[in-house]
Amino acid sequence: MPPKERKIAFMGFRSVGKSSLIIQFVEKQFVDSYDPTIENTFTTQVRVNGQDYLLHSVDTAGQDEYSVIPQNYFININGYVLVYSVNSQKSFEVVKHVYDKIIDMKGRMTVPIVLVGNKKDLRFERVISEEEGRRLAESWKVPFLEASAKEHPSVKDVFETAINTMTLKENGDSNE
Ligand code: GDP
Ligand code: MG
Repeated sequence: MPPKERKIAFMGFRSVGKSSLIIQFVEKQFVDSYDPTIENTFTTQVRVNGQDYLLHSVDTAGQDEYSVIPQNYFININGYVLVYSVNSQKSFEVVKHVYDKIIDMKGRMTVPIVLVGNKKDLRFERVISEEEGRRLAESWKVPFLEASAKEHPSVKDVFETAINTMTLKENGDSNE
């Protein structure tokens, strides 16, 4: 089977680790300082459930609670990974704002979304519990994971979950 081409946008407040998650997945390394203003798209081929994907990960510069999200983040995007960091209450609020904007544009039934609480390695700085994250995701009826861009397996889970969520939606799940 030829690879399926898919595009996932990573969104959320600045400094939550969007770039770090993508770079950990694509390059299998943790980068400590990556220019926060760069908006890059990283392309990689992955195999999930026996299917090859040519995956484009769109790294956004980040949003805040007032952001108007540019049109190009809605066009030709197959799914979204919404990221907050477990050590930032603000980032948890921003992710709700971003969710509302995406739903306004795309509609709740159609858009594959995964919620990610990043920086779970920062145990002593945590202000958002895993339970809080899970409850938010449940209210949206989307998958939830905590991750650390320092830990490759947790990052791989994020990407595989995002791909599986897209596939489910594309195949018309009726769990809505
Ligand atoms: P972005 O603005 O959302 O793209 O965030 P970056 O990926 O640039 O990360 C912002 C800062 O947080 C950088 O210093 C990263 O090294 C750091 N960082 C990102 N992810 C993690 C993580 O999972 N754990 C820890 N401890 N630091 C992280
Ligand atoms: Mg970045």
